[in-house]
Amino acid sequence: MHLNMESFQNKHINIHTHHPKGKGVEIVNLFPDGLVSGQLPELCSVGIHPWHIRDNWEQQFQKVEATAREHRVYAIGETGLDKLTDSSMDLQIEVFKKHIELSERYQKPLIIHCVKAFNELIELKKNIHPTASWIVHGFDKNLQVADMLIRHEIYMSFGKALLKPDSNARKVLPEIPDEVYLLETDDMEISIEEVYREAAGLVDLDEQKMKDLMFLNFINCFRI
Ligand SMILES: [Zn+2]
Repeated sequence: MHLNMESFQNKHINIHTHHPKGKGVEIVNLFPDGLVSGQLPELCSVGIHPWHIRDNWEQQFQKVEATAREHRVYAIGETGLDKLTDSSMDLQIEVFKKHIELSERYQKPLIIHCVKAFNELIELKKNIHPTASWIVHGFDKNLQVADMLIRHEIYMSFGKALLKPDSNARKVLPEIPDEVYLLETDDMEISIEEVYREAAGLVDLDEQKMKDLMFLNFINCFRI
């Protein structure tokens, strides 16, 4: 059954997790090595992480490509660019572009891991003019980076950094418009409820209003 809009309403929406808790709405991240055909969680994303690009990445990507059209796959990724990992930036860009193509083909958002490569990311966005949404996940940069992403219509997803005292994320969230962000737990054993509570406190909304806002942002970003 394809989920309709009502299935997401009034629930905590976790747009990126590696540790599903089986509650609320969670988009479970799957890497190609973890894909078992015919066995997908109700909502998931698939992609090659820049840390995991191997010599046989084309085979890894075939698995991603074969899965991407499934209706349970709500997003492509996480994938992206990371200057602190071993693969060359050229190779990372080549692999990332293949994911952009998939995201465009199926009009599913791209969940992006970006470390010290925001200029490269923006260049690609400007050259390719994608129509599916792009989401930089795990955002914990300063307001200048946030503003740059907003100018280029890239969503941000906030998670564990909101729970860290003095993080960039905590300073940035109250300064950005309501409609440009989503929430996640990523690889942490934290609950999405905690992340919602923290975000709501920072932007001075009650928890119900935060749920309503995240629902709206989710359906806009994912075009549901
Ligand atoms: Zn992740």
